[in-house]
Amino acid sequence: MPEIKDIFQCTRCGYCCQGETTVSLNEDDCRRMVAELGGDREAVREKYWRVSLDAGGGEVVQMKTPGGRCIFYTEEGGLGGCRVHNARPWRCGQWPLHPSLLHDEANFNIIRNSCPGINKELNHAEFTAVLRELMRIGRIKC
Ligand code: SF4
Ligand code: SF4
Repeated sequence: MPEIKDIFQCTRCGYCCQGETTVSLNEDDCRRMVAELGGDREAVREKYWRVSLDAGGGEVVQMKTPGGRCIFYTEEGGLGGCRVHNARPWRCGQWPLHPSLLHDEANFNIIRNSCPGINKELNHAEFTAVLRELMRIGRIKC
């Protein structure tokens, strides 16, 4: 039976937590993060979130990025870490096993080149065959 480590093992390089924008948080992400950080939603919003409006007027919640990286990113002993690891947004937990990898080889190559945790011995067909099986048996929810 395949395991996630067959296609991906995070090296904690921290690359995916860098940049001026972050993943968007859904309502469940927001609730879990507020609970993790003490339960005061307004305080969490003020201190950690960047809130904007989409074309339909709905709120888009991302994390602030002081210094060009996620506000929750930490480094210790040369390894990257997340201060809300247990309550990180689901998209952070999913990364880099994104469903677009299944059908978009160009995107697979981009992510493969940026994320050192991806098993470089596998080509796209081999990688996606394992990823599909992991999804089928419920080990990964994309
Ligand atoms: S880029 Fe890949 S290996 Fe590096 S921290 Fe992110 S998931 Fe882990
Ligand atoms: S919440 Fe954690 S895992 Fe997600 S981008 Fe921020 S530091 Fe990285």
